Amino acid sequence: MLYGALEAGGTKMICAVGNESGQILDQVSIPTGTPEETMPKIIEYFKSKIDPSLPKEDRIKALGIACFGPVDVRKGSKTYGNILNTPKIPWRNFPMVKTLKDALGNFPIGFDTDVNGSLLGEATWGCAKGLEDAIYITIGTGIGMGAISGGNPVHGMLHPEAGHILLAPVPGDDYKGHCPSHGKCFEGMASGPAIEERWGKPGKELAGNSEVWELEAKYIAQALTDILLVLSPQKIILGGGVMAQAQLFPLIRKYVLEYVNDYIDTKELRNINSFITPAALNGNQGIMGAIKLAELAAEE
Ligand SMILES: [Zn+2]
Repeated sequence: MLYGALEAGGTKMICAVGNESGQILDQVSIPTGTPEETMPKIIEYFKSKIDPSLPKEDRIKALGIACFGPVDVRKGSKTYGNILNTPKIPWRNFPMVKTLKDALGNFPIGFDTDVNGSLLGEATWGCAKGLEDAIYITIGTGIGMGAISGGNPVHGMLHPEAGHILLAPVPGDDYKGHCPSHGKCFEGMASGPAIEERWGKPGKELAGNSEVWELEAKYIAQALTDILLVLSPQKIILGGGVMAQAQLFPLIRKYVLEYVNDYIDTKELRNINSFITPAALNGNQGIMGAIKLAELAAEE
């Protein structure tokens, strides 16, 4: 069975065809411009995958979209499938699902946030396979979190926005924070742009400066401690450009244990190396999650 998958990001749109085993059989990347520039190319790609001249088994059966947010993921809502008040102004209130549904002729479409998509990919084929409670946090230009609880993606009133939880400043750090809404929230203190503004250089030029990563790990560990105490996940997966600095992982694990301070004792915390872990699907977790979203939409 073939499925269409769209990983909609702020800089690129990845369109792909995959199968029920999560194999990616075809993939193109389209730079993200305005909706007027970008959507016709996406529509053209997926239209060519449902063309009636193709043999039936070569046509995709549904489309899954893992989209940058915030987005409306509440089924039954009037604005379901829309991008909401994103800082990417041309995309604000853009009806992503409706546009593709109209273009593809009332086609089954699954839709979730990019981070819930990545987590779904990891929970289906990657390092969270078989787990019912897990979280995925991407730390890059922004910070986003996806969560599954009891096997279901967490949505609620919107969807988790754990990149904006408020953190206590580390003593001695007087940086004002990068978030226009909160200043010193998780994203404001620990995103890629926050590192660059605080230290005057992008993170990848600071790889050898241990002071940078000590401080970064303390903020990430503070956020992870709050999140794990609230959501009680069986695994925390960390991805995104900042987490390409692999020296962060041991530091984050050390500070999480320090901040939890033996208050809870679980096998997950005793096996901290597999509890706090990098993504396992080599950057394909988002598009593979979109394949899974399509499969779930086809079943509905
Ligand atoms: Zn914020």
